[in-house]
Amino acid sequence: MSRTTYTCPGCDRDDRVQAVPAVYLAGRDAVTSRERNRDGDMRTVTRTVTTGLSDALAPVPESPTHAIGCVGIVAGFVCVGTFLVGVLAGKWFRDDPEPVPDFTQFGPPPSPHLGPDLGFLGWISTLALVVTVLVVVELRRRKAAFARLTRGRHRAEELWSHGWYCHRCGTVHFEGVPGEDRTPLTLQRFRERVWEHGGYGDLAAVQRAVDPARS
Ligand SMILES: [Zn+2]
Repeated sequence: MSRTTYTCPGCDRDDRVQAVPAVYLAGRDAVTSRERNRDGDMRTVTRTVTTGLSDALAPVPESPTHAIGCVGIVAGFVCVGTFLVGVLAGKWFRDDPEPVPDFTQFGPPPSPHLGPDLGFLGWISTLALVVTVLVVVELRRRKAAFARLTRGRHRAEELWSHGWYCHRCGTVHFEGVPGEDRTPLTLQRFRERVWEHGGYGDLAAVQRAVDPARS
């Protein structure tokens, strides 16, 4: 007779044991609901709801690009915004007779076109552009580094798929993995085992698995 679930080595029962990939995916549902908006009209809203348990069972680390990406977006807006203000104020691209370029001045924009009140916009715009470019370069670098770091993720996912989670004990144990015993592991220990298998075990110390039921 084939079994679909395994007995938890912690509580010796199988009624609340579930495969780790199933728990992980169940915690990432797209939930659709009907909600009333500010004007009082009903509308359909779809959200991805991630549970803490699902996060704690993730086979790969989170990509560390979010915060710096926000900086890049803000800098991009500032760059475009200050540039547009400069253009709309009609100071930067007026059809004046060509002024004699002043090569002793360093930096944008040429002063004869700009009133002293708008000159600083050129600097802000340029600075924001530099920040935006730097962020884009840094994001590409981090993305490449992250892809390199997690290139062993298929090995981690292979081990991960043999994990069984007990909802009663809040622990995971492995079944049918050569070299792994059936000791119940905390979510953090499970993460360390899986991530080490993928070659990025160091990150498990930084991104710790938070047990939602016991935190
Ligand atoms: Zn159990």
